[in-house]
Amino acid sequence: MPAAKTYDVIVVGVGGMGSAACYHLARRGVRVLGIEQFEIPHERGSSHGHSRVIRKAYFEDPRYVPLLHRAYELWRELEAESGEKLLHITGGINIGPPEHACIRGVRESVRLHQLSHEVLDAAEIRRRFPALRPGDGVIGIHEMDAGYLLPERCVMSHVAGARRHGAEIVTGLRVSAIEWTAGEVRVATADGTVSAEKLVVTAGAWLPAVLPIGLPLRVERQVQLWFQPRDGAIFGAGRMPVFIYFLADRSYYGIPAFDERGVKICRHHGGATVTPESVDRVVSRADKDDVRGFARTYVAPVDGPGEGKVCVYTNTPDENFIIGVSPVSERVIVAGGFSGHGFKFASVVGEVLGELVTTGRATMDVGMFSVGRFG
Ligand SMILES: Cc1cc2nc3c(=O)[nH]c(=O)nc-3n(C[C@H](O)[C@H](O)[C@H](O)COP(=O)(O)OP(=O)(O)OC[C@H]3O[C@@H](n4cnc5c(N)ncnc54)[C@H](O)[C@@H]3O)c2cc1C
Repeated sequence: MPAAKTYDVIVVGVGGMGSAACYHLARRGVRVLGIEQFEIPHERGSSHGHSRVIRKAYFEDPRYVPLLHRAYELWRELEAESGEKLLHITGGINIGPPEHACIRGVRESVRLHQLSHEVLDAAEIRRRFPALRPGDGVIGIHEMDAGYLLPERCVMSHVAGARRHGAEIVTGLRVSAIEWTAGEVRVATADGTVSAEKLVVTAGAWLPAVLPIGLPLRVERQVQLWFQPRDGAIFGAGRMPVFIYFLADRSYYGIPAFDERGVKICRHHGGATVTPESVDRVVSRADKDDVRGFARTYVAPVDGPGEGKVCVYTNTPDENFIIGVSPVSERVIVAGGFSGHGFKFASVVGEVLGELVTTGRATMDVGMFSVGRFG
């Protein structure tokens, strides 16, 4: 690492959010150093697994919708700049009992933000999307704008764009400590110490280790599985929407088959509490049986699973993100706790971080993500 150089900002962790931060900072003419402990991309954090759902009918909270509008615009800008297709629109459907809190949340988001959608009953869902076999009594809110992102390619596109705009990004180098004074921030690595005006910490599941300021984060093991459809035609991206299926006590999601891996079907949450070091990265029989059981009942016949990948969520107590200036120093800006639903926002989170570093405030309203809200 070129320690003699000075930087305006150092970004610790170049995964989903850090790569976007490097890109947006470099685009603003800021001298950026991004430091990543592994290669880019890699499979030990939260941004791997070939696909991530993107949607606007946000059951979690309608306040995310304006950010989503901006996220879509920025993904499209990145595609235009990089010449690479990153976002695929397939439509998306949230399925569940009408009285389920998440289905009510979807309806609230589409109503408040006038999102284009249709409400379908179970028979109509089965007719239109034969890959899905919901039980009678549920409804589906079909959203035309939903689809999936290619996460590894998004990370690589942000990194390539950041480098084009002058950022320096170092891989295979772990930040072992950070410190801040009234005048600067310092980052220690095996290659020496480097300083800058500001620090952006986007360390994902390692956030508590990099910035030990007592943020209440819980790292949760998750498994991604791919199945081979018996009838490939009905599981393709032109025929099947991305879906989330809310059962009474758990939920599953799926992404259509767009390559030889097949259709992705996974459980959302319900995983063990772990650390990124202790997490069991081997997919177990229980992991497979759980999702296979769901698939047998609620989707058309599939074989497998074949491929499986373990990943981690970093959850906050309210499952809303943490984005903002840290309480310990105005020089330290943090983005973490994405609670299993952050990837689709990476583009806009990068822009917000770029603004927070350069102007101290974000154009989008990110007040609900304040670092200090947990006391
Ligand atoms: C299985 C799974 C499915 C998901 N599905 C969806 C979905 O469909 N839609 C959606 O929007 N979101 C989804 N998410 C959530 C989303 O992927 C995450 O919120 C997002 O990827 C988090 O990005 P991050 O930058 O915080 O973490 P990461 O991408 O893990 O980046 C953190 C980086 O920091 C680096 N780092 C840490 N410590 C150090 C250090 N000391 N020195 C140097 N580098 C360091 C790490 O190596 C890592 O590369 C899913 C997550 C998982 C796990």
